[in-house]
Amino acid sequence: MNQQVADPAARDTSPRHTHVLIIGSGFSGVGTAIRLSHEGYTDFLVLERGNDVGGTWRDNSYPGAACDVPSQLYSYSFALNPNWSRSFSKQPEIHRYIREVSERYGVRDKHIFGCEVTGARWNDAAGQWEVQTSQGLFIADVVVAGAGPLSDPNLPDIKGIHTYEGEIFHSARWDHTADLQGKRVAVIGTGASAMQIVPSIAPEVAHLDVYQRTAPWILPHFGRRYLLPERLAYKYIPGLQRLIRTGIYSMREGFVFTQAKYPVAARFFELVARVKMWLEIRDPELRRKATPNHRLGCKRMLISSDYYPTLARADVDLVTDGIKEIREHSIVTSDDTEREVDAIVLATGFNVSDSATYDLFTGRDGRTIAEIADIESVQAYKGTVLNNFPNLFVMLGPNSGTNYTSLIYVIESQINYIIDALATMKKQGLQSFEVRRDVQVEYNRQLRQQMASTVWLTGGCHSWFLDEKGTNTMLWPDFSFRLRRILRKFDLDAFDTTARANAPVAVAD
Ligand code: NAP
Repeated sequence: MNQQVADPAARDTSPRHTHVLIIGSGFSGVGTAIRLSHEGYTDFLVLERGNDVGGTWRDNSYPGAACDVPSQLYSYSFALNPNWSRSFSKQPEIHRYIREVSERYGVRDKHIFGCEVTGARWNDAAGQWEVQTSQGLFIADVVVAGAGPLSDPNLPDIKGIHTYEGEIFHSARWDHTADLQGKRVAVIGTGASAMQIVPSIAPEVAHLDVYQRTAPWILPHFGRRYLLPERLAYKYIPGLQRLIRTGIYSMREGFVFTQAKYPVAARFFELVARVKMWLEIRDPELRRKATPNHRLGCKRMLISSDYYPTLARADVDLVTDGIKEIREHSIVTSDDTEREVDAIVLATGFNVSDSATYDLFTGRDGRTIAEIADIESVQAYKGTVLNNFPNLFVMLGPNSGTNYTSLIYVIESQINYIIDALATMKKQGLQSFEVRRDVQVEYNRQLRQQMASTVWLTGGCHSWFLDEKGTNTMLWPDFSFRLRRILRKFDLDAFDTTARANAPVAVAD
């Protein structure tokens, strides 16, 4: 196997060629590498800007970081983990899992760590990608972009933020050297990350201000530790864990009804959330502030058992007036109240619809994905391939997200498509394939039609699922098994292709 070492001294300035180049080593990159290896491919590499596998589960190490999708769903289908210690896993355990799987399946030495991709250009004459990186140029027949939509922190452009003199960091870049003990701390944002950070740090800080722009809906969290007999049963009773996994998967598909099919069904969950809030927050004023003003499901549904009780603490304030400016040692809100703080945690999410990945790739006509998206919102075919970007697969690409089930399910569906595409390329002697514009346009027309009645567009909120034009470019508006079904086979008819030089004449099946 190709041992690639990120040793600057060993750098070679000549371009390196590889058949498949994978960018990023989160669940997408590692999963693709494992499947490629399993299918007998050896000519592939994984470029990773960090120094370890894990992607979002390596970077998001903030206190309380955990997965709000059940553990039984949050693993590769080919590597179930009977050893999960909890029904909802915490970040260190998930990071350990992906690291361990990458080692077990022998793909770690296919990685080049500390290698940041700075640009990628399609060379139409050669029918290849030229990928610029911090470690030189790579030439690849096929590129799999696995950086994911949640990799670039959204740093809010608040007046005066750069003049702040205390500690300030984003939730996905937690400064573990910062000591928050006994300090006055502000958390900006009340999304999924804040939901976990706020209860985790409140007991140790002197005072916590939680700056909320939009109140989220919060459902009960039923996470618990697994008992030893349960773990032994998962390990030793054949098929049990897969059965439970299938059961949980099927139940969660039910959320599609509340979000995409019949949003009115979400009213039941709103009632559950209201009762929960009423039980956990006794102060009517705090309850008023924490009550959402949009339909449940419009933004990502959150679960927590300790967030509301934390807001109700005497040493925690929920601040709902907008932030006007940040000064050297304080935050000033629109009502001109100034609150002193020693540290600020930005739990402000990620650049999603303007993902950095979209700036990196320059397609056949010389435009980047971002430049095209500026005109017509980013569009893909089956969430995975894009017109004008031949031989490129985008993992968790436009409209492939599912916010109620495990994204690993989507990732594995996309990997099926990639593997079948590579096999087709080989069999048909293809140099390149590019999804036809008319096919992509029609696919997106139907998708948008299906999207129109979803709670994401009708629920009265602006979420990160929507881009600047108000188009939902993130989510898949149907059952996840339907996405899997359309990704089962690479549909060559939907593509324009070019033949490889000296390729044998393809013979139809
Ligand atoms: P997020 O859901 O995008 O939440 C960001 C929060 O910051 C929102 O409350 C937002 O307010 C607020 N905000 C953003 N810019 C602001 C500004 N300039 N001023 C004031 N407030 C501002 O981000 P996240 O919590 O990091 O979560 C992102 C995604 O990561 C999640 O939706 C989820 O998919 C994933 N995640 C998953 C887990 C898990 O357990 N699996 C855990 C954490 C994160 P508005 O609501 O008003 O925009």
